[in-house]
Amino acid sequence: MNYVIAAPALPSVEVKGTPDRFPVHRIFCVGRNYAAHAREMGNDSREPPFFFTKPADAVVANNASVPYPSRTSNFHHEVELVVALAGGGVNIPVDKANSLVFGYAVGIDLTRRDLQSAAKDQGKPWDLSKAFDRSAPLAAIHPRASTGILERGRIWLKVNGKDRQQGDLADMTWNVPEIIAELSTLWELAAGDLIFTGTPSGVGPLVRGDVVEAGIEGLDTLTTRIS
Ligand code: MN
Repeated sequence: MNYVIAAPALPSVEVKGTPDRFPVHRIFCVGRNYAAHAREMGNDSREPPFFFTKPADAVVANNASVPYPSRTSNFHHEVELVVALAGGGVNIPVDKANSLVFGYAVGIDLTRRDLQSAAKDQGKPWDLSKAFDRSAPLAAIHPRASTGILERGRIWLKVNGKDRQQGDLADMTWNVPEIIAELSTLWELAAGDLIFTGTPSGVGPLVRGDVVEAGIEGLDTLTTRIS
């Protein structure tokens, strides 16, 4: 079979400890999954999980630059635990969900906050604010076989060496198995899916020239430069 135009490259992410790469199928994201961040955005902290998506080719490699995006003057960082799936399905029980996890990485859910605020005010979709080009930097995926199940651990983000975000994975409102179970009632999940699991408090603006470092205990630190 031939394609009528050149087929787009398959987006992929480095895997810790191997030259092999993780092929990205889809990117799902959870909103407001840490109570302190929900409060800083003016929301009740107890609402059920909700989801949005980014295109698979929004991924950016560790140590790469992200150009300051167009049409925003309030460009924000959100450090997040990213879960990579090795399997999927529908209606996955909470107690089976961790068995589908290939591994974990540190990611940043880059956000055009001004466009997101306007979308919220107008009841419009979030795509312009969340699903833009190069909106998903992430570091190497660490296989679960080497990390074990990640349920707690410090999560942090610094800009130009100054602390911005601090939290602990244990503070998630909905934990990873609960997120996978809920997502699988809305989509048929599949190997290659990535899930950004929400950000702790301290989100804030980035400008050209900023160096962003983001980390989670036990995983490679992510460094991103805004150009
Ligand atoms: Mn987020």
